[in-house]
Amino acid sequence: MEEMVESLVTVHMLGADFQIFCRCDKCRLDVIALSLNSLPSHYVTTEEGRQAVFEQLNTEENRRWINKRIVSSIYLVGKYPKHKKDPL
Ligand SMILES: [Zn+2]
Repeated sequence: MEEMVESLVTVHMLGADFQIFCRCDKCRLDVIALSLNSLPSHYVTTEEGRQAVFEQLNTEENRRWINKRIVSSIYLVGKYPKHKKDPL
């Protein structure tokens, strides 16, 4: 899950949709962490297990669901970037 979210976040942030959003490493990692917090974790210990979980997660429906969480995390971090003043 972590690898998947990380690559999806990178794709999103390089995409044209989020021009306004800060792309520094801090914000990128915040988006990844925030997305992962709202998604179930799938820890695996073997390469076979990793492959199985990836195939299970990598469906059209799951990608859409994960992407929705990533997009809301991007907006949230974009609105309250940690490298500026933390409003919380
Ligand atoms: Zn930033």
